[in-house]
Amino acid sequence: MDDCIFCKIINNEIPSTTIYEDDDIKAFFDISQVTPGHTLVVPKKHVQNIFEYDEELAQKVFKKIPMIARAIKESNPDIIGMNICQNNGEIAYQSVMHSHFHLVPRYSKDDAFSMHWGDN
Ligand code: IMP
Repeated sequence: MDDCIFCKIINNEIPSTTIYEDDDIKAFFDISQVTPGHTLVVPKKHVQNIFEYDEELAQKVFKKIPMIARAIKESNPDIIGMNICQNNGEIAYQSVMHSHFHLVPRYSKDDAFSMHWGDN
């Protein structure tokens, strides 16, 4: 997709802080860190949202998420939990129309994360 920002990141046309990459996915830091280490896991295939996943793509993407989540957690002993969120459609606060999963490390009850981030 010519005008998709995540396709450009996947193709290295736009720089990113990439923490994991393979043939099927790329995981890179969100430009707007909700908490330190906030990572997006993005399928390399351009699909807009969860409604466009077939079983094969779901398997390729979903099976990698626990490994990436663990790697983020192990990178910092202060990480005591993690929210994994995924928005589908504008009504659900999706702003980039290339499917992605947010991995948001949690440090304490008082860290910056709000479950209602789309409302803010
Ligand atoms: P959404 O609101 O669930 O679609 O999340 C899109 C996310 O993409 C937001 O958290 C943005 O901060 C993030 N984002 C937008 N542009 C970039 C970029 O160029 N690099 C990394 N993250 C980005």
